[in-house]
Amino acid sequence: MLRGLSLLVVGVCANLLVGVVALAQSPAEVTLTRIDCGTGPTPTDVGQRFSDTFAYKDLKLTFTFSCYLIKHGDDYMVWDTGFAPGSNPNAPKVGIVDRLKEVRVTPDQVKFVGISHFHADHTGQLAPFTSATLFIGKGDWDQITSPTPMQGANVAGFKSWIDEKRKVEPLAADKDVFGDGSVIVLRTPGHTPGHSSLLVRLKDMGPVLLSGDAVHFHENYEKDGVPAFNYDRAQTIASIERMKQIVGNVKATVIIQHDMRDIGKLPAFPAAAK
Ligand SMILES: [Zn+2]
Repeated sequence: MLRGLSLLVVGVCANLLVGVVALAQSPAEVTLTRIDCGTGPTPTDVGQRFSDTFAYKDLKLTFTFSCYLIKHGDDYMVWDTGFAPGSNPNAPKVGIVDRLKEVRVTPDQVKFVGISHFHADHTGQLAPFTSATLFIGKGDWDQITSPTPMQGANVAGFKSWIDEKRKVEPLAADKDVFGDGSVIVLRTPGHTPGHSSLLVRLKDMGPVLLSGDAVHFHENYEKDGVPAFNYDRAQTIASIERMKQIVGNVKATVIIQHDMRDIGKLPAFPAAAK
């Protein structure tokens, strides 16, 4: 009886040990690559549309449009898709599919496409990702699929997604994409009803917080600035506050996606941050 029990204990311990070893080996490598998805042709006077409190007098900034590729083990995720090439003066000259080809990734290898929000400059190149699950804040998805979508919701960008009944996961809460805390879609509503940001935890660089449009440029992040075009002011302020707390707590690098000054925080394409 006693012998049987001790054998059982040995068995359990061995199992535990195998489990611990497997866990020690298993963290998937995570990398983050910025993909250029457009540049403003001229500087924007940000005092005009990007402040509801008459801030940023005479401040002119050239906006950039950023997309990102996240590699987690053998899986790929794309975050934001920019404008479609040729669609307007801000659009990129080279599309995201050609950029991915440069790093030897095909669109069907992309398992997840996350978008920060439904505006056209983030949703112009969704169509190629036929096998991906789309992560979109529920508040934004409700607008895209509404018979009367709100102004600014780029319904056309989602056409193939809707027509072909592709996989969609509307998010009402944060989403731990790979189940290991390495990539988390964060609820940061306000700019739009279902706006999201993305936290990517990298081994060497540490955590990186991709802003989406919760903020548009440094001055606006630092002083809690809200654009004149905005869905919900109180939510936007609360989301900026949430971002700041996360940044402080996990010591994250904030990357403001539209701010040219943040491009250099990640290695230049095709290199990846690790
Ligand atoms: Zn936007």
